[in-house]
Amino acid sequence: MDLEAPAHEIARLVSAGSVSAEEVIERTLERMRDTERLNIFISTNPDAVSEARRIDGMVRDGSDPGRLAGVPVSIKDNICTRAMPTTCASRMLEGYVSPYEATVVERLRREGAIIVGKTNLDEFAMGLTTEFSAYGPTLNPRDPRYVPGGSSGGSAASVAAGAAAISLGSDTGGSVRNPASFCGVAGFKPTYGMVSRYGLVSYANSIEQVGPLARTIPDIVLAMQAISGPDPRDGTTAGARPVSDTEDIVDGKRIGIVRQMAPDSLHPGVRTVFERAVSGLESLGAACEEVSLEMVDYSVAAYYTITSTEAGSNLARYDNIRYGYGLEREGYEFHRYVAASRDRFGPEVKRRIIAGGFVPSAGYAGRYFLKALKVKSRLTREVNRLFGTYDYLVSPTVPVPPFRLGEMLDDPVELFQLDINTVAANLAGKPAVSVPCGTCDGLPVGVQLIADSFRDGPLLGAARALEGVVQ
Ligand code: GLN
Repeated sequence: MDLEAPAHEIARLVSAGSVSAEEVIERTLERMRDTERLNIFISTNPDAVSEARRIDGMVRDGSDPGRLAGVPVSIKDNICTRAMPTTCASRMLEGYVSPYEATVVERLRREGAIIVGKTNLDEFAMGLTTEFSAYGPTLNPRDPRYVPGGSSGGSAASVAAGAAAISLGSDTGGSVRNPASFCGVAGFKPTYGMVSRYGLVSYANSIEQVGPLARTIPDIVLAMQAISGPDPRDGTTAGARPVSDTEDIVDGKRIGIVRQMAPDSLHPGVRTVFERAVSGLESLGAACEEVSLEMVDYSVAAYYTITSTEAGSNLARYDNIRYGYGLEREGYEFHRYVAASRDRFGPEVKRRIIAGGFVPSAGYAGRYFLKALKVKSRLTREVNRLFGTYDYLVSPTVPVPPFRLGEMLDDPVELFQLDINTVAANLAGKPAVSVPCGTCDGLPVGVQLIADSFRDGPLLGAARALEGVVQ
């Protein structure tokens, strides 16, 4: 049994009884131990092997074990699970175990998936290198001197290292697609409202989605079939229809190359991979031409204004009383309590909370927050207009290849700028996928395809065709 095998192949073998889920999971746990120095996981599921045995029992009894039977899955540690703590990679949540399970986790398990562990992330999903974690950085499995991207860096690394066939991450402004690009795996941000956020710890809930990462697009489709669709516990999913099977049709499609996302300043190594991907799409019969999305130039500023505002509000509940161990346990006096409590958030989270208190405040809201909302609606209008003519938009996922650990830590604003190609899909609520399309000096580079709302199925079909032609 090859641990790099696609999830659908693992599920087929397990369902047929040719391989036991127990063996798959034992081997996965072994891989997790062998790759421990990459710091991919925050916790491991103590029940993984017994759950695998239960799946094997179902196969023996002739009952249907589900379409993800025995598939090892990892979950970003800002998605609630009952079997393991949910830390959000923050000291603030130390000792917190959720009393309920996220809908997406429940749905994967119902299909026979085995959750093997919770993956590392930037604290509360704020960042794009997985260096802002209270548990230390995750290293890129392709080369441990480099960052894995983020904030779902642990999720992408787990898939790249063969320590999970599928992982769930969350994508507020690129956190699934960015690490997918840096680790050489596929990553998908669904249409807003396609996947339940029930049990996802909110960062900027008006634009974020849970999204799957896997080694290939067919496994992303498999994961989406399990997790997508309406959930009575998340009203924003009311209009969703689960992703059904997809067709790889690119022939005759019109694809817009977003000029602002491939500017002259684009890293030359990324440009080479991107141009090859565009030629690949053309060779499949697509008509590709340059288009302009003017609001892209303002999108990063608008994104950080909106997300900081929502983060400031969402994170107000962490007061050291309601979640986790709390400090009262440690017998703090009040003035020391306040100081110690502050230190339970890391520097990036503090930065967002401070900005999030300021930009929407009386006297400043018009200058910052309301202006950001205007950019968001203009961008959405621009994108919708393009989808009147084009089937898909294409761009590099990230304007640079993976960089070294520590290299970008000194300049947060420069780091924010690397989200330029990913935030537009979140602000406009559109589905977007990153497909591994090649390498630059041996390090992975991804290409992004964006589609109109609820065109998730066709988008994944086009991504599968692209994946086939760049290999
Ligand atoms: N880098 C972005 C941020 O820090 C994206 C994070 C995300 O998608 N969760 O906000």
